Amino acid sequence: MTCIECGDELVSERAELGYQYCTKKRCQAKHHRGLAITAIGVNKSADTFIVGAQEEIRKRAEAGEFGKKDSGLGIGYRSPQAAAEVPSGSSGSVSRKIPARRPWTREQEKVVRLYNGMGLTPRQIVERARENTPKLGITESLVTKIMCSPPAR
Ligand SMILES: [Zn+2]
Repeated sequence: MTCIECGDELVSERAELGYQYCTKKRCQAKHHRGLAITAIGVNKSADTFIVGAQEEIRKRAEAGEFGKKDSGLGIGYRSPQAAAEVPSGSSGSVSRKIPARRPWTREQEKVVRLYNGMGLTPRQIVERARENTPKLGITESLVTKIMCSPPAR
């Protein structure tokens, strides 16, 4: 993969995230606008990153293309009440309650967990996130908080 603006080679994670341009200021400025990254949980083991116009993603989601109601898009998302019903008799087991509202977005969590899954340290995650998804504003303390919390499912 090379940058569509200057022709420089793209780092592989950046290419995987769907970027077609590099991190140079002038390339960012020219192509940054209008694109949105949306992380979509396709199944339990893998996440797919799709880049596209929000509007198009919304339409495709409404058409059922992503197949899952809880797709991370916030579309057709059901209240967690049904999932929160834990059998009351199960003694000793730690009930996995739905956590209270998290101070970070699904996009931030997806990116942090993706990099964490690649074995990066919080500091490395922050560096990569700053380079690849600067708009998410991921900090080291945020990374730590996300990694210390159970995954949102
Ligand atoms: Zn470039």
